[in-house]
Amino acid sequence: MPCTVDITISPEVAANPDCLRQAAAQASHLTAGDVGAVQLVRRSVDARRGKALLQLKLNVYRNGEQPLDAPAHFGYRNVAGKPPVIIVGAGPAGLFAALKLLEKGLKPVILERGKSVKERKRDIAKLTREHIVNPNSNWCFGEGGAGAYSDGKLYTRSGKRGSVAHILQQLVQHGANPDILVEAHPHVGTDKLQGIAANIRQTICSCGGEYHFDTRITGIIVKNGVAGGVVDERGARYEGIAVALATGHSACDVYEMLNEQKLALEAKPFALGVRVEHPQELINEIQYHGKGYSPLLPAAAYSLVAQVQGRGVFSFCMCPGGMVVPSATAPGELVVNGMSNSRRNSPYANAGIVAQVNLADYADGYEKFGALAGLRFRQEVERAMFAAGGATQTAPAQRLTDFVSGRVSSSLGKTSYIPGVTPAPLHALLPEFVSRSLRRAFLEFGKKMRGYLTAEAMLLAVESRTSSPVRIPRDPHTMQHVRIANLYPCGEGAGYAGGITSSAIDGASCAERIAQQAL
Ligand SMILES: Cc1cc2nc3c(=O)[nH]c(=O)nc-3n(C[C@H](O)[C@H](O)[C@H](O)COP(=O)(O)OP(=O)(O)OC[C@H]3O[C@@H](n4cnc5c(N)ncnc54)[C@H](O)[C@@H]3O)c2cc1C
Repeated sequence: MPCTVDITISPEVAANPDCLRQAAAQASHLTAGDVGAVQLVRRSVDARRGKALLQLKLNVYRNGEQPLDAPAHFGYRNVAGKPPVIIVGAGPAGLFAALKLLEKGLKPVILERGKSVKERKRDIAKLTREHIVNPNSNWCFGEGGAGAYSDGKLYTRSGKRGSVAHILQQLVQHGANPDILVEAHPHVGTDKLQGIAANIRQTICSCGGEYHFDTRITGIIVKNGVAGGVVDERGARYEGIAVALATGHSACDVYEMLNEQKLALEAKPFALGVRVEHPQELINEIQYHGKGYSPLLPAAAYSLVAQVQGRGVFSFCMCPGGMVVPSATAPGELVVNGMSNSRRNSPYANAGIVAQVNLADYADGYEKFGALAGLRFRQEVERAMFAAGGATQTAPAQRLTDFVSGRVSSSLGKTSYIPGVTPAPLHALLPEFVSRSLRRAFLEFGKKMRGYLTAEAMLLAVESRTSSPVRIPRDPHTMQHVRIANLYPCGEGAGYAGGITSSAIDGASCAERIAQQAL
């Protein structure tokens, strides 16, 4: 049996196997000669005070003992000829639903409006360099969904520890760095996610599952209150024993389709704001307490939250060493988001800073849209930002200090956003309650992180795709739509998940329910 110890050491000690061994021996009250294998179980950065250090949880084995790692086992079965389950959308929810179906012996049939990750890359380049938005192939749509070109942070507030571990192990099985199994804040990076998404496709197809690209679903086939398949925009029908709807929350046309088919939908709170970008060096100095921090430490992250007159304002999807990217999914709108590569080595640190948007905030004038009221409100803000940016993907921007003081920036600083930025009065362009809440929150954030509130920081708008403004209601136990049997809304678009890991868990849970029902 190993002795499990927690140690706090400098990155230099952690990087030197002899020194690490010595520290492990000391913590487990052994001599260095008695120590056999030292296994890393968990790693996090502790920068709360003084010098930033690493906190490690280690399993220390005595000489002669060997770590008995049970290899993760995934019993993917051959599902050729097995009952088909229709999965709409190849994002994390759809892909992990498919993997779960393979484990259960049912055949996933994935229908995806976009292209393979490789082909998608060209459309992303066109969007980023030429401002051309392909409504079926962009930063959010295509193989891997919004997850494939995302930042790839995998931490989640989901309490389902076993489920989180299973998802992380499946990601490692498909090419992710095994470090994600021990990091307290696991991160994959955009450059690695695409290969992982393609490897998952390999697994699905090699087990007899189907994968169809360029297939945009425009209708659900419902007979006597039971979903039996879907129809695509060319009129082709795909039938199965159940339909998992995993279309994400950027697919406005899907909500409209469901609304037209009179399937129950609900408006729900979401969040909206800006993306703020600082020099990474500045964030490192704030978080690691000055210039003398170890070069072995990772690019520093932060997480901020404030309550402004009862409204939550919080940082979202913070990307150390990352880039701000254009993530609109339709022409005529402007949306920003953030990503980073696995090495997190760009000179910029960006994060969404968003204010909670409640149903009452947009009740006036939007009631007529019913359950889609929040969606319309979001679309209008995104269109207003597109206009303010000059009707291209150039983002309206403002220096942080100018935003807080309510004046247009006479000049803008450097940003990582390739389509470019143009000065705009974001304080006046954003909905008043959002602008007011963000301005006050930034003042608070400047007190919590000295140096954060600086003219060097740039704000780009609009950060509007943090979570879904619509919920597709489902029964909490069966996970089926409240009115339509065999229809399983899942992932972020259903309004029950947010982020890669929780969407993946949600997709896998729906697949479990489908299997329970079917087998
Ligand atoms: C730039 C960026 C960075 C991000 N960074 C992170 C991060 O670091 N960590 C994190 O946890 N989350 C991050 N996210 C969010 C994360 O990607 C999403 O939460 C997650 O992908 C949601 O998974 P999903 O499967 O529910 O939906 P999605 O990933 O949105 O996938 C939905 C899929 O459905 C397809 N689809 C839509 N409509 C149809 C239709 N009618 N017919 C057929 N197919 C359809 C879409 O093309 C898409 O492939 C980021 C998002 C972006 C855009």
